[in-house]
Amino acid sequence: MHPRDLSLEQLAKVGFLARHRHHNFIDGRASPAASGLFTPVVDPATELVVAEASDSDERDVELAVASARRTFEDSAWSAMLPAERERLLYRLSQLIDEHADELSALETLQSGKLQAIARMIDVGSGAAFVRYMAGWATKLEGQTLDPSIPGPPGTHYIIYTRREAVGVVAAVVPWNFPLAIALWKVAPALAAGCTVVLKPSEETPLTALRLAELVMQAGFPAGVLNVVCGRGHTAGAALTRHPDVNKISFTGSTAVGKQIGHAAVENMARMTLELGGKSPMIVLADADPAKAALGAAMGIFFNQGQVCTAGSRLYVHRSIFDQVLRGLAEAAQSLKIGSGFDAASQLGPLASKRHFERVLGFIAEARAEGARVVTGGERALAGGYFVQPTVLTDVHAGMRIVREEVFGPVIVVIPFDDVDEAVRLANDNPMGLAASIWSNDLSAVHRLIPRLKAGTVWVNTHNMLDNGLPLGGYKQSGYGRDLGRAAVESFTELKSVCMAV
Ligand code: NAD
Repeated sequence: MHPRDLSLEQLAKVGFLARHRHHNFIDGRASPAASGLFTPVVDPATELVVAEASDSDERDVELAVASARRTFEDSAWSAMLPAERERLLYRLSQLIDEHADELSALETLQSGKLQAIARMIDVGSGAAFVRYMAGWATKLEGQTLDPSIPGPPGTHYIIYTRREAVGVVAAVVPWNFPLAIALWKVAPALAAGCTVVLKPSEETPLTALRLAELVMQAGFPAGVLNVVCGRGHTAGAALTRHPDVNKISFTGSTAVGKQIGHAAVENMARMTLELGGKSPMIVLADADPAKAALGAAMGIFFNQGQVCTAGSRLYVHRSIFDQVLRGLAEAAQSLKIGSGFDAASQLGPLASKRHFERVLGFIAEARAEGARVVTGGERALAGGYFVQPTVLTDVHAGMRIVREEVFGPVIVVIPFDDVDEAVRLANDNPMGLAASIWSNDLSAVHRLIPRLKAGTVWVNTHNMLDNGLPLGGYKQSGYGRDLGRAAVESFTELKSVCMAV
């Protein structure tokens, strides 16, 4: 039996896929879209439509925001003790772990990613993040200050700050880590006492909908998490410009992030924008070329390069350039390409036809401009949205392939002669999400870290996230931070209290 069929059988057993048409989830139950329309969910490995989800518009958004508002004001949620929110979040993390087979299979089915990655990251790290945020529910705190307010004579003051839930949250998320990124928004929002309307990508709505059911099963009040499916320019735009939304937490492209930022300012909604990247990896002269080549391969090809922090620009000291380039090309050629359901696969398909064509378009343009294809550059396999892992060199800083996010298994490799040149090349990009340095020269590394304009700097590793370590961008890679204390605090307002006694 083909592994894909086996997984479909597993899915059919749990019943979720059997419901081929999936409605929105509003106020604790399935809620058909007002339009009666659906968008298709396509398995990128087979190009087959495997499900459909509601194609929502502003009428559905209205219902969902109203439910989130009612629930936010209702004492069942607003007066719930932080320790009870902690308990519910902890229960949710257990349910996510208990449904690891189903959730990871759904993730592979709708996004194409390797099921092992879905299990480890989307489900495993996702559940761990919910546990991490469960702990924060009881640890949000303000400060008591010593007042310096002069007079009137005889008056004393008590001044302090408190953190309060910001209110109704609009969470809009992409298709590359659908469940994990949804949890990056939902878990801190619920820990802080907010309510949420989640808009998953139209390409990957299934795990978000399943999450909403698990939230109910965990014992949260109905309306705490609502899921509205549909396209960005309809459902997404209606949600992010809704005047009753207090905070927008968005992960996606820089272009859409800017539109959402404008809409947020219009309503003075608070916002966190986690946007695109074009992250450099810098290999210094002392690095072990073989290790750096393997590390770079992991940095770019993980999840088919569909990672916001993917190391898509590799700058190598000229003295070891040829060795690193050769090692990287060999690593790329050794990757086994196939369905995410096949345990032997190391590189799955891209998530959609639209994206597959976009990535191939980037490669064709680079080629036409004179880039040399060291390996890859073509569609892989006959069906499905598979692209060969691609290594390009002989590129220059003005090319689109060097400047713009491809979001696929495509890397450009560029030599440099000294560290100052490496810094200049690495920072010469509008994005600033992440960077990595490959070297064991402690002094050089420490001097380099502050010079890189990036929200995260890795050393001798790349793409490693910790639930406690904030993630976000410098420059056009975004605004605010996901993960860590910074994330949960971003779902609060800071209230100042001054009392004359
Ligand atoms: P996208 O911006 O096209 O879409 C993201 C989400 O926004 C989807 O749910 C989409 O339906 C919605 N959307 C689209 N247009 C909208 C609009 N006008 N108003 C409101 N919502 C709208 O991005 P994508 O292609 O789904 O995801 C890939 C992008 O996400 C890449 O740029 C990647 O770097 C970025 N990303 C960033 C991070 C991070 O932490 N910084 C993490 C993962 C992905």
